[in-house]
Amino acid sequence: MVQVSDEIEQRVELRERKLPESLESLGRLAWNYWWSWTGGGTSVFRDLDPSVWEECEHNPRRLLMQVSEFRLAQMATDPVYCERVRQLAERFDQYVEDVRTWESHTDKRITRSNPVAYFCAEYGIHNSLPFYSGGLGILAGDHLKSASDLRLPLVAVGLLYRYGYFRQRLRRDGWQEEHYGETQPNVLPIHLVRDEGGEPVRVEVLMRGRNVKAQAWRVDVGRVQLYLLDTNIEENEDTDRLVTGHLYGGDRETRMVQEMMLGIGGIRLLRRLRIEPHVFHLNEGHSAFLTLELAREIREAEGVSFHEAARLVKECCVFTTHTPIAAGNDEFIVPLIEKCFGSSYEESLGLSHEDFINMGRVRPNDEKELYALTPLAIKMCRSTNGVSRKHGEVSRALWQSLWPEHTLDEIPITHITNGVHAPTWVAPMIRSLYEKHVGGNWAEIAHNADEWKRRIDKISDEDLWRTHSLLKQRLIAFIRQRTFQKRLALNESIDYIESARTMFDADILTIGFARRVAAYKRWELLLTDPHRLLRLMNDEHRPVQFIFAGKAHPQDQGAKLILQHLSQWKHDALVRNRAVFLQDYDQEIARQLVQSVDVWMNVPRRPLEASGTSGEKVAMNGGLNLSVLDGWWLEGYDGTNGFAIGDAIPGDEISDIDEADAQSLYRTLEEEVAPTYYERDSKGIPRRWVQMMRRSIETLVPAFNSDRMVDEYARKIYL
Ligand SMILES: *Cc1c(COP(=O)(O)O)cnc(C)c1O
Repeated sequence: MVQVSDEIEQRVELRERKLPESLESLGRLAWNYWWSWTGGGTSVFRDLDPSVWEECEHNPRRLLMQVSEFRLAQMATDPVYCERVRQLAERFDQYVEDVRTWESHTDKRITRSNPVAYFCAEYGIHNSLPFYSGGLGILAGDHLKSASDLRLPLVAVGLLYRYGYFRQRLRRDGWQEEHYGETQPNVLPIHLVRDEGGEPVRVEVLMRGRNVKAQAWRVDVGRVQLYLLDTNIEENEDTDRLVTGHLYGGDRETRMVQEMMLGIGGIRLLRRLRIEPHVFHLNEGHSAFLTLELAREIREAEGVSFHEAARLVKECCVFTTHTPIAAGNDEFIVPLIEKCFGSSYEESLGLSHEDFINMGRVRPNDEKELYALTPLAIKMCRSTNGVSRKHGEVSRALWQSLWPEHTLDEIPITHITNGVHAPTWVAPMIRSLYEKHVGGNWAEIAHNADEWKRRIDKISDEDLWRTHSLLKQRLIAFIRQRTFQKRLALNESIDYIESARTMFDADILTIGFARRVAAYKRWELLLTDPHRLLRLMNDEHRPVQFIFAGKAHPQDQGAKLILQHLSQWKHDALVRNRAVFLQDYDQEIARQLVQSVDVWMNVPRRPLEASGTSGEKVAMNGGLNLSVLDGWWLEGYDGTNGFAIGDAIPGDEISDIDEADAQSLYRTLEEEVAPTYYERDSKGIPRRWVQMMRRSIETLVPAFNSDRMVDEYARKIYL
């Protein structure tokens, strides 16, 4: 029975349908992720049928396939709804057809036929496209959206993962399990790339002795095209179909062949599409093999030496490094390189085997050194940058030995601090505050710090506080619903399931902590003194509640133990209403949290947070950061716009630093954060707190948004 209905559902699902004339443009809107960062975009799709919208995980193409005939007819005859659709479509057409191009007002070297080619192993465009794991992917997604908004000609290249990144489920005993859903390209709003004859475009890369073929999908992100290579096609052997299987989920060999496909296959795809990039941007080292492929092409065309070819490659490649620790870089044992590449590739480069391997080493001929992609990228690119000022400095020290003749200050690694895409991360209610007081073009005004400040000053305390309070109520409703469903699914006790309906309180100071569970992020820091923490949470006059979320790497047993340790508290009467762990941290949970918490906490071990971006999302929604002075916060904090913790001296024993930072964290929460939050005037408004919210918006939004970041890349790095 079940099977039959499943089958019917499948068949129904897979059908593209003709939309009623008054809603026809929804079909067009669904195929470009522009709607996802445009005011009123999400709600137009959601309102078509809210429950189907949830069911299909906010994927508009699926929504249009699944919504019932009756509902569609109902909405097609609702004049108010039809007018909303019409207006959205009109704005979309204006957006994509805008004739003001980047080159017409900026620089003639980057054009539509000579765009920036941006390479990354993951992209976080929207929750319905599960091709990201965390910060790097979200950053890449925000980069594309800002390039689109700024009209910077850019095409992006990545991989279409058949199983994406894992979904997290915690068992009742708190142990993390990983689940993989299968991507169904034929219900996603992505186009299979075809040639003039209508045949799917294919590229081929020789790896592990076999020619592996890939097809390509195109995702439209405003004016930007993102191409994703996919080896899951019949012509490939089963193992090779899984090259683009899991994101960061396979063994070292899988990682290696993925990176060959991304770098080498990516270049071949651009050639097939006749795209001639002005510059290639390697966002993290995963795509570093593209530089070898470019050198191979030049040698093939011009018969020059590898040395000369490398010089030419270097002129058009730039590299961004994202990790501040050597162990975080992608490394491979030499036999794996030999197995995956064979010997023909180095021959076509005109390199001896030793010289080929040495490209991935800091110290040539050091047999103990692994082959790593960061040194390869640094050597083959004309520019290398870190992602915050501090990270630039750390990277110079980390890679100093690549320039033995330079002093530390002379190492040519710079930085561009990460930013986030404001229209994507700002809550609709905050957006309308900005529209009202700053203007419809508020995101552009934010490029100008003085003008932005002048206009933000016009928002009244009352308006800002009321808007924030409403968002907090939404967050609590979200937490209760998610938690209720999770507990139900886990067969928890009735009493425990029921308690989810009343957990949390919108009047209580709410702190969010959501990030990867990795040692340096120090999840346990808050638990250093459990009694002190419980006192803080249950204080009679100034209670505090905490929301946690984050995934542990599947192979990181230590991180999973931390999660399990945390979950031992879940039934404790003193914790149950004041702390929650939201499972399966993703872009949707991130959005709910960053738009609504009072405080965002970040306590990494310095200087290991290359930049961090989630706190920037919080700032643009009026939340306050409470963070160790590391990464972006070291540049953002000015004494009036949030809270800084950690006066530990770097260089001390790690355990001493952790202890000192924990004390500083408790002290700041008890003596600064909670008192300021609960200090109210006769109208119930925490004036000093709201003043800090305003300072946070004024000072941080202009500096830490991705328009500023992409513009800086364009001017300082691409040109
Ligand atoms: C923004 C974001 C991140 C990156 O945040 P960090 O500050 O680097 O921890 C990770 N995951 C998701 C889902 C995000 O939205």
